[in-house]
Amino acid sequence: MKFISTRGKGEIISSSEAIIKGIADDGGLYVPVEFPKLYDNLKKKMGLSYEELAYEIIRKFFDDIGDENLKEAIRQAYSGKFFVREEKNFLELYHGPTSAFKDAALLFLPQIMKAAKRKENINEEIVILTATSGDTGKAALQGFSNVEGFKVVVYYPEKGVSAIQQKQMVTQEGSNVKVIGIRGNFDNAQSGVKSIFGDNELKKKLKEEGFLLSSANSINIGRLIPQIVYYFYGYFDLVNKQKIKEGDKINIVVPTGNFGNILAAYYGKKMGLPIGKLICSSNENNVLTDFLKTGIYDKRRELILTESPSMDILISSNLERLLFEANNRDSLETKKLMEELNSKGVYSISPNAKEFLNDFYGDYANIHEVYDAIKYAYDKEGYLMDTHTAVGYVVLDKYRKETSDYRQALIASTASPYKFPRSICNALGIDISGKNDFEILNILRDNTNTNIPNNLKNLDKKEVLHNEVCDKDKMTESLLSFLRRTKND
Ligand SMILES: *Cc1c(COP(=O)(O)O)cnc(C)c1O
Repeated sequence: MKFISTRGKGEIISSSEAIIKGIADDGGLYVPVEFPKLYDNLKKKMGLSYEELAYEIIRKFFDDIGDENLKEAIRQAYSGKFFVREEKNFLELYHGPTSAFKDAALLFLPQIMKAAKRKENINEEIVILTATSGDTGKAALQGFSNVEGFKVVVYYPEKGVSAIQQKQMVTQEGSNVKVIGIRGNFDNAQSGVKSIFGDNELKKKLKEEGFLLSSANSINIGRLIPQIVYYFYGYFDLVNKQKIKEGDKINIVVPTGNFGNILAAYYGKKMGLPIGKLICSSNENNVLTDFLKTGIYDKRRELILTESPSMDILISSNLERLLFEANNRDSLETKKLMEELNSKGVYSISPNAKEFLNDFYGDYANIHEVYDAIKYAYDKEGYLMDTHTAVGYVVLDKYRKETSDYRQALIASTASPYKFPRSICNALGIDISGKNDFEILNILRDNTNTNIPNNLKNLDKKEVLHNEVCDKDKMTESLLSFLRRTKND
């Protein structure tokens, strides 16, 4: 399998090159040259374990890593750390070390990067730099912790993440990890990281000292491909439970931010997985809803801070990969649209491309709808869901009422309700006045008779290992001092 850039002139590169590079020099994203029609083959092997299925799917894409290396990467990533479960038509993707679905990608990425690094004979240590508003930072720290040949540095706005998210990060173990609070907001942290990436002088100096900068953000193809696996897994699980017959089409509902998760489902569909509609669910930041309805992508609006913070996004980076398909893989057209987005903040796609988007349905949910849905699902169905998943639940309901398409649907459940306990208690009408986030975890447990995930239990008693805080214009200095202090540890 080879990879091309969504903005390129058709140059092809290997999977390990694509994984190491992350983003193409022309600014485009890497996509496979084709999608292997794997469904017919895999349906004969229904009942594979998650890791076995991951191997069958990922090896079709990342085929220059070597089968044994890939098996080992998958084992290291997931074994005993991550599992997927279907419950009441929710596909629960959050049973991992950080209780959010990003674990599926960020447990695997370090392992595949390690293998790709070996394949490409890269001797420098790779330094993963990330600015985070909460979830990605912890998942990256967890995934790269103690992975040989890598360091990971995470910047977060000191006062801009929840108490639980902050505690998750500052208690992170591992000799190669560093967590730094920024006196500023998320935008400051993000532009600091961007300017480090854009500083060629600094990169040259780092290279002389044996370091290469890289990022763990969701445009890396090494994060996207492993996300295809759980849609196959979920589908086969429904067949095994006789909720559907093999070959029946199902609808997939995905609470969406950066468009990575739903794109993976679409890739599954291209590989033959029987999927009807892909239901793209947004919160009040409903850029994608408007786009899917009108064919016009317009980011010129205020970012709204919602209670599904991981979906508070105005530029969904992975949409570029769908645009590339919608425009018949025309990289010039894709490049033009992305440049318009950058310069004008808006673009409009052709009628043909718009027609292509009929596989998708988009709508959004506001906070009242989300709260009502959380309460309804809990009271009537005995199912406790988080605020992101609830967005999907509401939008599925809207879709069904609008279209009368009531076929079997799977809702991607992207986070444990215990990651957002304050919102969940508010939705359920549980009194939490005057309580801190850690007390609220216990209140939620006692009121719902559910279990706090292990990684969040006793979090408040864990030892703080990272207490560095720096000014927003001192990020480079803090990075250099960490790297020099821990060189070849
Ligand atoms: C990141 C995230 C999403 C959005 O996923 P994308 O792949 O960015 O669309 C949804 N829910 C949760 C809990 C997340 O962490």
